[in-house]
Amino acid sequence: MKETRYALPLLAALLATSAWAQSPPPPTPPPAPQEFENCLKTLRAPARAVGVTEETFSRFTQGLQPDMSVIDKLNYQPEFRTAIWDYLAGLVDEQRVAEGQALLALHADTLKRVQERYGVDPATVVAVWGVESNFGQTLGKSPLVQSLGTLSCFGRRQGYFRTELFASMRILQAGHIAPERFVGSWAGAFGHTQFMPSTFERLAVDFDGDGKANLMDSAPDALASTANFLVKAGWRSDQPWGFEVKLPRDFNVNGEGRRTKRPMSDWTERGVTRLDGSTLPANAGAAGLLTPAGAQGPAFLVLRNFDAIYGYNASESYGLAIAHLSDRLRGGAPFATPWPTDDPGLSRAERREVQTLLIARGHDIGEVDGMLGDKSRSAIRLEQERLGQEASGRAGQKLLKSLRGH
Ligand code: CA
Repeated sequence: MKETRYALPLLAALLATSAWAQSPPPPTPPPAPQEFENCLKTLRAPARAVGVTEETFSRFTQGLQPDMSVIDKLNYQPEFRTAIWDYLAGLVDEQRVAEGQALLALHADTLKRVQERYGVDPATVVAVWGVESNFGQTLGKSPLVQSLGTLSCFGRRQGYFRTELFASMRILQAGHIAPERFVGSWAGAFGHTQFMPSTFERLAVDFDGDGKANLMDSAPDALASTANFLVKAGWRSDQPWGFEVKLPRDFNVNGEGRRTKRPMSDWTERGVTRLDGSTLPANAGAAGLLTPAGAQGPAFLVLRNFDAIYGYNASESYGLAIAHLSDRLRGGAPFATPWPTDDPGLSRAERREVQTLLIARGHDIGEVDGMLGDKSRSAIRLEQERLGQEASGRAGQKLLKSLRGH
C-alpha cells in the first residue's frame, strides 16, 4: 500500500518517538464558513461518475464538518529520523512475539485454509497483522469520510485523497462495513490490515462467507486479505523472504541493495555465507543485500518475497520488521549481528518502564502507553541533563539503566 508511510497509527507513533520539535508548528486555521460545504458540492458529480450514488453521497456528507487536525498531520515533517534499532526494538519485541504466537494457535484453522488458498504461510500473515495494526488492537479512530473529505478539500494531494474518498463511499454503499465502524488512521488506512480504501476495493476478500469483506471486525477476512495482497504482489510460496548472512571482513556494500538482485552463486563467490559459516542455498533464487545500518550491522540477503512485503508500505525498515517478526513467530532467534551502537533500543515494555520511572520523578508525561511522545521526550531531556548525559530526548538502554539505578 502506497501512502501508508504516514497512514499507520502504530508506525506513526513509533516514528514520532524520534521526532521532537521544540515548539510544534501552529495548528491549521479553520476554513472560511461554507468553504468545506462548497467544496463537497463540487465533488458530487465526480463521485457520481465513479459509482457513488446521490443518496450515498448525501447521506455521508450531510452536515459533515472538516477536521483540520488531519491537515496538520499531513504537513508534519519529523525533524529526526528514528534509528533502525529503535524502530525494530519497538515493533518486534517479546510481547509482540508472544501475542503473535498465541494468535497463530487461536486462528490455526483459518490460517491453514488461507495458506491452502493463497500459498502464504501463517507466520507471515500474522506478522503483517502484528506490524500493521498490533493484531487489530490499533485501528485508528478517525471517521474515514470526515478525514478523507477534509483531505480532499484542503492541503496538498487533494486529487489522491478524492479517489480514496470516493472509494470509501463505495465501500459503505456496498455495505461491507457499518458506517459507525468505519474509522481508521487520519490518512484513510483502516481495519486489521490498514488498507487504504482503494486497496480494499482491489484486494479485500470475504473469507468467512457472510458476503462482506469486513476488515474491521472479521479476523478471517483480514487474514485472507493480507495473503491476497502478498500474492498479488508476487509472493512465492516456495521461497523465504530472505535471511541474515555473514559478510567477509571489509566487504564493500556500496551499490548493493534490495533491488540489486544477484544469483546466490555470485554472493557465494564474494564470500557471503549463512550465519553458521555454511554455504548459501544454491537454488534459492536471486537476492539483494540489505545492510540497514551499513556493513558493520546485521546484513540480509533478501529475495522476491521481501519485495512483496515491501509493497505493503514502501519502506525497507518496515519490511524488515515484518520479515523478522515472521521468523520470530516461527521460533527463530533475534539477529545474530548486533547493531552498531552502544545504546540499543527499548522494547515497548521497557518504554513503559521509562515512562513509569519518569512519573516517579514527578514528570507529567500523560499516560503510560509505551509511546514516547512529546511530553515523555521533554522529561527524558531533563533527566538526561540531570544525569550528565547528552540531552537527546531519545530513550535507549543507557537511560533506562540510569533511571533504574537512581
Ligand atoms: Ca466476511
